[in-house]
Amino acid sequence: GGGEEEAEEYLFKVVIVGDSAVGKSNLLSRYARNEFDPHSKATIGVEFQTQSMAIEGKEVKAQIWDTAGQDRFRAVTSAYYRGAFGALVVYDVSRRSTFDSVARWLDELNTYNSDSTVAKMLVGNKCDLSAIREVSIEEGKRFAETEGLFFMETSALNCTNVKTAFEIVIKEIYDNVS
Ligand code: GDP
Ligand code: MG
Repeated sequence: GGGEEEAEEYLFKVVIVGDSAVGKSNLLSRYARNEFDPHSKATIGVEFQTQSMAIEGKEVKAQIWDTAGQDRFRAVTSAYYRGAFGALVVYDVSRRSTFDSVARWLDELNTYNSDSTVAKMLVGNKCDLSAIREVSIEEGKRFAETEGLFFMETSALNCTNVKTAFEIVIKEIYDNVS
């Protein structure tokens, strides 16, 4: 090798979980391609997208996994979680039932990844829908604090905090492993 000149490479797997239609696929497409789809259907097939960011002058790649329709059956397989160093647990601020499901998604994440430190961010998506909000920011924040998660409200529709949410998780993973 080239000794000191050799660039270090980082590749981290990050998973997105949460109930169907909370906006997981759109958060990913907004982050990876700056696209939003108002009519998105459950995506079958697309497994992950890779996105790079620079941290301390190093290229850090995140392989970000989307549930690709499995969320509809609430049966995300263990292979989905395997090897993940980070997770975004998403609910929809305009649908309380999706917030109530967060504990269940966290349980599942902890069941499959109990042996590694996983950087987790609780994400309240669709904050653009403030007029029909069913979960307050304070409630989300409080729950995240109790569970030791990062917290952020996002909108894949108007771009609010999407990049920030992913980058905080990726930065935390980097800090955990380096
Ligand atoms: P998934 O099933 O969790 O992957 O959710 P999708 O990304 O497919 O989104 C479900 C629906 O919510 C789609 O109609 C999206 O256009 C819509 N959606 C996603 N994110 C947002 C958002 O931030 N704001 C609003 N208003 N709608 C969103
Ligand atoms: Mg989807």
